[in-house]
Parts: sequence; structure tokens; C-alpha cells
Amino acid sequence: MPEGDTIFRAARTLHTALAGQVVTRFETQYAQIARVHHDAPITGRTVERVTARGKHLLMAFSGVGGRQSAADDQSRRLRVDGPMVLRTHMLMSGSWHIYRTGEPWQRSPVSARIVVGTAGFVAVAFAVPVAEFVEAAAMEDAPALARLGPDVLAADFDVDRAVARLAVSTRPTVAEALLDQTAVAGIGNVYKSELLFLATLWPFTPPADVPVASWLRLLRNARTLLQANVVDPRETGVVTYRGMRRTTGRSNPAERLYVYGRQGEPCRTCGTPIQFRHHGEHNRSTYWCPTCQPAPSAAP
Ligand SMILES: [Zn+2]
Repeated sequence: MPEGDTIFRAARTLHTALAGQVVTRFETQYAQIARVHHDAPITGRTVERVTARGKHLLMAFSGVGGRQSAADDQSRRLRVDGPMVLRTHMLMSGSWHIYRTGEPWQRSPVSARIVVGTAGFVAVAFAVPVAEFVEAAAMEDAPALARLGPDVLAADFDVDRAVARLAVSTRPTVAEALLDQTAVAGIGNVYKSELLFLATLWPFTPPADVPVASWLRLLRNARTLLQANVVDPRETGVVTYRGMRRTTGRSNPAERLYVYGRQGEPCRTCGTPIQFRHHGEHNRSTYWCPTCQPAPSAAP
């Protein structure tokens, strides 16, 4: 499952390859995107920038410029002639890859949903389930983006605003609140368990019972860990969502996480077997150490 650091890294890699380049090839299997391309071709436009916002990847294209519009369709055509942003969200399965022109793809073309080519590179969105074109001028009003909480990886990340939104989350547990992208954007399921371990918080604590100091600790660690994984030196340039995510700072692949995926294995701090539970709206997995992250003792 891609997390904020992965999307951030993907955006940076795509930006390096594509920004400032003219689009020479554009293909898609999505009707809404194909319609925009049909009305006001994406080929011939310039890729202006590729950025990440939470788990959304945003690819901005220049306007077409100088095109005459058909009188009977003028308003719609004028809009899509302007600068457009391609918004994609990977959910569980999607990934963007970047290849040099002519280089073989690592996944089957059958699962390619969007292809953006320039003279030197081809960017391919494989199995990306959520994609739409948004007018650049209206992007901040796009419902999916307007709802997002502060982005953990943003340069101007506002930790106090994120704490305020998390503290009033309607999700029943702190574990679920951390995944609520309208409270804070960028934290995914792996980091969730790791951050709760580092903050020694029982994952099923109601958000209202989490002290402010613990929220601050969770978020500062989130930013530190996600940033550390963004600058992972093993980055290959091929965008993949199966990269090695690390929270322990240890280089041994078997020791890279504290609790995630370690059900029944000894806690790295105290030796207690790590516990595991599926819970919540999407039945997500949560891992924790019952000794380091104790449940509040029952009332006498
Ligand atoms: Zn422990």
C-alpha cells in the first residue's frame, strides 16, 4: 500500500524526468481523461510540474493556447484548453513507472491506464484506480484535495493544525485516526503501527483520550520517518510501491520495522510477542506490543 513518502518520491522522480518537456504521446483507458485529450490534446502541451499532495499525485500540463474553439461548445472547450492537472491516486494497487524511451516495461501493457511520453521518457500509470483531469485554476476546489488534512511531507507542514484535526477525529481509535487523510495526509498502514509503537500508545485508544504530547510525538516521528524514506539512497529511479520502508534505522532487511508484519515475533525492546488484529471500517491490520503499548487497565 503506497504511503506518503512513496508518492512524494514518485512525484520527484517523474518531475525530474518530465518537467519542462513537451508531451509527444498520450494514451489512456479512462473515458473522462480521453475526452479532455480529444477536445484539447495533451500532446503538444508542456509538463509543468509533478507534485504530491498526501497520497495524490498531481501532474500539471500547460494550456493548449491559440486554439480556435467551436462556437457550439465554446465554454467547455475553452476550459479544457487551459492548464490542466492530472490527479491520480494509487489506492492499494496502482503505481507510476518512468522509463527511457524504448526501454522495456516491467509490467504488462494490459494494466497500463495512462501513458505520458516525451522525447526522452515514457511515464506509465499501471493499475491506477483513481484518475481525473482537473482545471489547474480550480484544483484547490477539487473535492478530493479540498478535504485533505495537512500533508506530513509538505515544506509548510502545520503540526498544530494536524493535531487539532486528529484530536476531533470521529474515527473510533487512534490507529484509524492516523489513516484519516482528512485529518493528516500521507500516513499509511505500515507507518501507523510503527508510529504507535514509537509513541508507546495502545492502538485502540479513542482519539479524544490521546494527550497532545503524544499527538505531537506521533506527527514529528511521522515527518522524520517519511522524510528519511524519501531520501532512501537505494532509490533506483524506477517508481515502485514495493520499496523497502524502514523505521528502525537498521540496514538488515529483517530488522527494518519494529512491529508491522511481525505477529508473534519478539518485541525489539522487551521481547514480548507482537500482537496483531484486523479492525475498523476497512478491516486494516494493526500490530503492537502489549507490554510497550499497554491497554489502559480496566476500572476496579
Ligand atoms: Zn515491547
